[in-house]
Amino acid sequence: MIRARFAPSPNGLLHLGHAYAALVAHDLARAREGEFLLRIEDIDGSRSRAELVPEILADLEWLGLTWDGPVVFQSARLASYAAAGERLKAMGLLYPCQCTRAEVLAAAETAGPDGPVYPGTCRDREVDPAGAAWRIDMARAIELAGPLAWTDELAGPQRADPAPFGDVVLLRKEAPASYHLAATLDDAADGITLVTRGADLFGASHVHRLLQALLDLPVPRWHHHGLLVEADGRKLAKRRGSPALAQLRRAGEDGRALAAALRTARFPAGLSLDPGLGSAP
Ligand code: GLU
Repeated sequence: MIRARFAPSPNGLLHLGHAYAALVAHDLARAREGEFLLRIEDIDGSRSRAELVPEILADLEWLGLTWDGPVVFQSARLASYAAAGERLKAMGLLYPCQCTRAEVLAAAETAGPDGPVYPGTCRDREVDPAGAAWRIDMARAIELAGPLAWTDELAGPQRADPAPFGDVVLLRKEAPASYHLAATLDDAADGITLVTRGADLFGASHVHRLLQALLDLPVPRWHHHGLLVEADGRKLAKRRGSPALAQLRRAGEDGRALAAALRTARFPAGLSLDPGLGSAP
């Protein structure tokens, strides 16, 4: 049996791109008589807004989606992130970093899939761990883990190549865990066997595969789906005027009809699907 999930961050209201992502995960699970879980990724203290959670649930119901079991909240799992952090520290794979974002930007010499690559400024320095972020020593971690493979259902077999990300942050200064660590641990804790997410996050899966190896976690399959894009090819964003699902819902639009349209690639005017690295779902 497969288990998939939709894992929105309540940093803003859901838009059509989220609706598409939720439908892909839900439909793949249902088509294979599997389970579909809903996980709220609410550990970004400065951006996460609890009042948006009921809106997200209402949006998904409006689209006609049902999920199995209780909704899972990352904020209830902080202890597991801290424990994994301690384990990686004990393995000598994390180091504290006090660099500010501006310092990282100024010092970065290369760009990786996530933006500027951290040049390792604090790697061999004495750094006060109090209030520090903790970064993974990527070269050392890759050496320890050895060659790793993973499979994307659309793009096929992959050799894990997390090196271009550099020493990413796993424990953040202002949050208990970074996206990479929390999502990897949660997918394992939730028994997710098929990780679906947009092709824009394809690269992140290389890092997640490495973390799975280091932390002895089960390895799921992945399905990186295409992204809804605007006429200029850019991803949907509410700040550029993509309507929130909640707005459409309140305006009396039919959510199930919208879901049916998205499922059959009848996209609202001006939108299209960029298949990304795979092919259309
Ligand atoms: N919370 C992440 C997002 O909304 C989830 C990405 C993922 O599915 O891993 O982008």
